[in-house]
Amino acid sequence: MDLAQTLVRSVARAFYTGADERRLILVIDALVFHNTVRDDDLSHLMRLNSKDLNKVYSRLRDDHFLHTYSRPELKAGKDKPTMRTYYYIDYRQAIDAIKYRTFLLDKKVQGDAVPQQEKKDYFCSYCKAEWTQLEVLDNMDPIRGFMCHRCGTILDYDPDRKAGGHELSTRLNNQLKFILDVLPKLDNVAIPEFDFETARAASIEVHRPRGNEGVDSIVVPDGKPTAVKGMANIGPQNIHINITDTDGPTEAEKEAERLKKEAAAQANALPAWHLTSTVSGISYSGSANATATSKTDEVDVKKPEALSDD
Ligand SMILES: [Zn+2]
Repeated sequence: MDLAQTLVRSVARAFYTGADERRLILVIDALVFHNTVRDDDLSHLMRLNSKDLNKVYSRLRDDHFLHTYSRPELKAGKDKPTMRTYYYIDYRQAIDAIKYRTFLLDKKVQGDAVPQQEKKDYFCSYCKAEWTQLEVLDNMDPIRGFMCHRCGTILDYDPDRKAGGHELSTRLNNQLKFILDVLPKLDNVAIPEFDFETARAASIEVHRPRGNEGVDSIVVPDGKPTAVKGMANIGPQNIHINITDTDGPTEAEKEAERLKKEAAAQANALPAWHLTSTVSGISYSGSANATATSKTDEVDVKKPEALSDD
């Protein structure tokens, strides 16, 4: 799973290079870290209004990175449920999309290079046949990769087996070396089914600063808002309910809240490489004090510039 997450993040950085595309990288990073993020939390994290968030969403959806799951939830103190949307990454689909996209990119460059003699990058370890990428195009197993035309064995991809005259292609392969290295490794790893329930169960909550808390809401059992009454025993059993005491917090609760906020600031703190520019080695974040949460947000905005010089 770590490998899949690393791949998705790297690919986002490799593909989203435009100035207006950098926020896409941040959304991917947030979703890798939190697993699922509710619509209002994502708006908060990205500082995007719902219109811009939709733009980001449709782009990432079209690139097969992002999935959404909507369900009615009951906000505390409200009678009618509202639809809440959760965003998450379906790693299986994302990896398939990455494979396809990498392949298209590779094909495009190979086409531009007008090869005199197509390089036979694909090698069958069983019958020893060699194939060019074009030849194996129509014989692809979506999960395992390209197959041998002669015997059906999954082919080994090895661009360095024979010296070929594809300078452009070589350059591309160097740029995408990490991706091309990781993809075959992922073929040997079972990527678990990553549906919404799985993702949600493993989620790390987005903690928000005081005054900007999201409104707590509970899942409407069975997903049917009109069938709530008398159906209390139906639907998911381990629903996380968090309703604030209407009489106001006691001193003990205030202290607990303060500790929770501190923990939240820690939890939202980003890993070391996140905070440090790969170019200069300078850390953006001074110290982990009480304002760590808001500083984290600033780091999020600055990060793409820091990485863009790679
Ligand atoms: Zn073969």
